[in-house]
Amino acid sequence: MKRIGILTSGGDAPGMNACIRAVVRNVLDNGMESIGIKRGYTGLIEGDMVALDRKSVANVIHRGGTMLETSRCPEFTTPEGRAKAIKALKEAEIDGLVLLGGDGTFRGGALLANECSVSISGVPTTIDNDVYGTDYTVGFDTAVNTALEAIDRIRDTALSHERLFFVEVMGHHTGFIALESGIAGGAEETITPETGNTDDLWTRLRESFEHGKKSAIVVVAEGDQPGHTFAIAQEAKDKLKIESRVCILGHVQRGGSPTAHDRVLASNLGSAAVSALLKGKSGYMVGQVKNEIVYTALAHTWGKKKALSTRLEELASLLSA
Ligand code: ADP
Repeated sequence: MKRIGILTSGGDAPGMNACIRAVVRNVLDNGMESIGIKRGYTGLIEGDMVALDRKSVANVIHRGGTMLETSRCPEFTTPEGRAKAIKALKEAEIDGLVLLGGDGTFRGGALLANECSVSISGVPTTIDNDVYGTDYTVGFDTAVNTALEAIDRIRDTALSHERLFFVEVMGHHTGFIALESGIAGGAEETITPETGNTDDLWTRLRESFEHGKKSAIVVVAEGDQPGHTFAIAQEAKDKLKIESRVCILGHVQRGGSPTAHDRVLASNLGSAAVSALLKGKSGYMVGQVKNEIVYTALAHTWGKKKALSTRLEELASLLSA
């Protein structure tokens, strides 16, 4: 193996740059060349590439976003689009490819692995943590900490004004960000797509307000309907006769300097993705489960569902007031 390409695709996540740095440095340490592919699959189709040396990844470990830029690329979902990508890989003489992204990126990667001889390795980078085969994805910890900072600030206002607040956090179809930021932020309630209905919630909130509670924070996962928290606040008004405020955190959760946890995870997985290619492994995502590197076939990363931790769900319920 002589030349390894790297691209970042789908939603950006804090820690992508730390991961790119680790990939490039492991590639170079093994006497190979490293090629950065710009703007995800869009740049791959267009052959938009740049050679990366040790210096080109200096001073990026602390930066959010992705120095290679990213994109959503509908053309790549078609056989014709992928044929263009395969041609570009051949022309650039790339024989190994590291993909940084989420389940969508790996869907595309699995198809590509079947359609050409380039070896492919994936690294899970998404704030949502919704990828099977790793305890945590790169960027999740930073997003939880960003949400937590907002929750802490909102608590100051909730206490001062004796108010009920609903804070909507990201997480795609899952409640990972909501559950962890809810526990860390001492949320009175947490609503996730996994837990579903809100019937018991109104009973519990009514009882706690009747017992003298004057303010509360309910963390809500956006699920597949960003902004649906306004409807939940309206339900609170109808059912509890309580005025509330809604705060949608939105894209502030995507950017920012990665936490130490995300930088270490990104560095570890980025380096492991290159080592996997050198060991002859292709078509796998590298993840970390119980502190060990594990390999999961790309098709399983979206084909199997990662569940919320039952223990954390019980803990959130136990600690809520
Ligand atoms: P993420 O990787 O963060 O989940 P997306 O779901 O937007 O982000 O996927 C990133 C890109 O991966 C898409 O823009 C598309 O180019 C490619 N992709 C997604 N799903 C598929 C699919 N089913 N087949 C081929 N390519 C796909």
